[in-house]
Amino acid sequence: MNRKLFFLFCIFFNHLVFANNAIMGVSGGIIIAPLNEINTENAQILSKEYEGSEYVIFGVPYSLVENIVNIENNKIVISPKNYGESRINITDSSKVSLSAENQARATKEALLIKGNIGTYSDILLSDLDFKLPVDGIISSKFGKKRYINDMPRSPHMALDIAAPEGTSIFSPSAGKVILVGDFFYGGKYALLDHGMGLLTSYSHMSRVNVKEGMVIKKGKEIGLVGSSGRVTGPHLHWTVYLNKERVNPELFLNNNIVKTISNL
Ligand SMILES: [Zn+2]
Repeated sequence: MNRKLFFLFCIFFNHLVFANNAIMGVSGGIIIAPLNEINTENAQILSKEYEGSEYVIFGVPYSLVENIVNIENNKIVISPKNYGESRINITDSSKVSLSAENQARATKEALLIKGNIGTYSDILLSDLDFKLPVDGIISSKFGKKRYINDMPRSPHMALDIAAPEGTSIFSPSAGKVILVGDFFYGGKYALLDHGMGLLTSYSHMSRVNVKEGMVIKKGKEIGLVGSSGRVTGPHLHWTVYLNKERVNPELFLNNNIVKTISNL
């Protein structure tokens, strides 16, 4: 076989091997699979027992194009999903085109949050049936492509729930408060560690009623809806992280995890 043919053979062969072992996932979604079908070596992975069997749950990275990633030695093929788009106008130009000082601040804060996302508990503190943290209206769904003043920006990687300023925000599930801050983008902010790589964050609050280190129950008041940070009006920007990926928070509502497992 000449070199060119051999090269083509390798590509083809690898593709076949890979296709047989690949796990399919949707951009920004979750993968739920029986434990015996997933490589879990050296990994703290979220899992759920159901009728005597163990299922693992992965967060899938957001991607606008078909992509292949490796998560804990599992090859994941990501299919893109059209989550729609949103266009907003922000008149305070200092919050659109950042000054060097604000850019430095935002970068530093992003690193602080990122560091905390990676330091979660190795036991599961919560159930996996989240309650919507605010009694309000979902004003921006997860995954939307965004344009601010007609300029393309990073997609919306959280769920926005609009409610009047001062509306209570409750913990959707039990967890530990691992970070509280007042940030350039997120405003008054809290980050909850639910264990095993599952974390949630709460942005733009008018007041935070929890402190770092507190272990809180499901339904505990975390703070109040506000419009701190970079926002157009009072709402909660609610983020769910799983294995360090931001995933669609709605996948954890309405007992969706157990419903999905029971249909496997
Ligand atoms: Zn938002």
